[in-house]
Amino acid sequence: MKLILATRNVHKIEELSAMLSDLNVELLSFRDFPDLPEVVEDGETLEDNAIKKAREISQATGLPALADDTGLEVAALGGAPGVISARYAGEACSYDDNNRKLIHELEGVPDEERKAAFRCVVALAVPGGEVMTVEGRTDGVILREPRGDMGFGYDPIFLPNGHTLSYAEMSQDEKNTVSHRGRALEKARELIARVM
Ligand code: IMP
Repeated sequence: MKLILATRNVHKIEELSAMLSDLNVELLSFRDFPDLPEVVEDGETLEDNAIKKAREISQATGLPALADDTGLEVAALGGAPGVISARYAGEACSYDDNNRKLIHELEGVPDEERKAAFRCVVALAVPGGEVMTVEGRTDGVILREPRGDMGFGYDPIFLPNGHTLSYAEMSQDEKNTVSHRGRALEKARELIARVM
C-alpha cells in the first residue's frame, strides 16, 4: 500500500516518516512526484488547509494522501499567528524572522501570560472517498530567547508544559512523543489502518 505525504516541508516529511515507519505502507513524497501541483494554502482554518492539501495531492496522484496543517496560537495575541504561522513576518520570511517577531510582540509580557498552543490538523484523503481529519494539540509557553538548534519553525521558542527542554532542544523522538504532530499522528494511524 502506498501513501503520499502531501507536504514539501522536508522537516515534516522526516517527522511523519519516523512516526509512521512501523505501518505496513510505502511512504512517498514530492521527491517521488517532482511535478506535483503547488497547493495554495488560502483556507481560513487549519482544517480547510489540511483538507485542501490532502484532497489536491490525492487527486493529482491517484493515491491516498496525508496532509498536516499546523498553527501556533498565542493567547496574549488573541490566537495569532494561528493559520498564518508560516508567513507571520511576511510572505518570504524565514523561521528566524517569525521567531524574532513573536519575541518582539511579547516583549514585557510576564511569564504567566506567555501561554501558547501548537494545533495540528491531519487530513487523510482516499481516492473516491471522504477526507477525514484528526487533531493534536500541545500547550506550552513562548520563551524570551531561542533555545536549541534542532527541529524547525518555532521550535526554539516553544517550551511544552511539563518539560524543561524547548522543542528545539529535544531529539526528534522526544519531540514526537510530546508534540502536536505526534499526537495528531497517533490518531491518524487508526484512520490509516482502517481505510488502507
Ligand atoms: P504549515 O502551514 O502547517 O506548513 O506550518 C505553518 C508554520 O508553522 C511553519 O512554517 C512553521 O513555522 C510552523 N510549524 C509547523 N509545525 C511546526 C513544528 O512542529 N514546530 C515548530 N514550528 C512549526
